[in-house]
Amino acid sequence: MKKEKGLLLVLSGPAGVGKGTVCASLRQEETDIQYSVSATTRLPRQGEVDGVNYFFKTREQFEKMIEQDQLLEWAEYVGNYYGTPVDYVRETIDKGQDIILEIEVQGALKVRERFPEGVFIFLMPPSLAELRNRIVGRGTETEDVINKRMTVAREEIDMMKKYDYVVENDQVHLAVERIKSIVTAEHCKRERLIEKYKELVEVD
Ligand code: 5GP
Repeated sequence: MKKEKGLLLVLSGPAGVGKGTVCASLRQEETDIQYSVSATTRLPRQGEVDGVNYFFKTREQFEKMIEQDQLLEWAEYVGNYYGTPVDYVRETIDKGQDIILEIEVQGALKVRERFPEGVFIFLMPPSLAELRNRIVGRGTETEDVINKRMTVAREEIDMMKKYDYVVENDQVHLAVERIKSIVTAEHCKRERLIEKYKELVEVD
């Protein structure tokens, strides 16, 4: 019997919404979802491990990966490159395992072009005020920088229209439960199960 492909899940949303936190929390749960490790040119933060959090690359190395078509998508974000190595994604879904990509919105739209069958989940802040709090809470940015980030965030929120699902990140554990429900529902989609039950169901 033909093996069902795994789901390509894309978790995205505006900067500051908590994509990283939600993804890390999902990762701690006992699910069968695999995680894509991105390549980046930004420097490792304290505690980050090469090959676990990211594959840390020089700009030269990253540009070579682009040239050699090793990336499913890539984007330049706050002065650094970020991209998804394509081989691991393909191998995983071909094996029938689900994989999740946690990426910003420009990259997510590029994945949509190459993998329209992907499942695109938009993480939504509970409100703009809350998003602003999270952006302010992160560091020591000036008012000017915060306002610029908020303008970008509004544009990013507008991208919600291009996604299949919208998950509010009011509380991390609730957002994680919603994502797990989406994965379950996607596995129950008729189109995915036609092949499995073809002996039982008449095809017209
Ligand atoms: P950070 O530097 O905080 O780890 O990540 C910055 C942003 O880059 C986050 O919004 C994160 O989702 C995004 N990001 C991480 N990996 C990738 C990737 O492979 N491709 C794209 N397009 N964005 C990514």
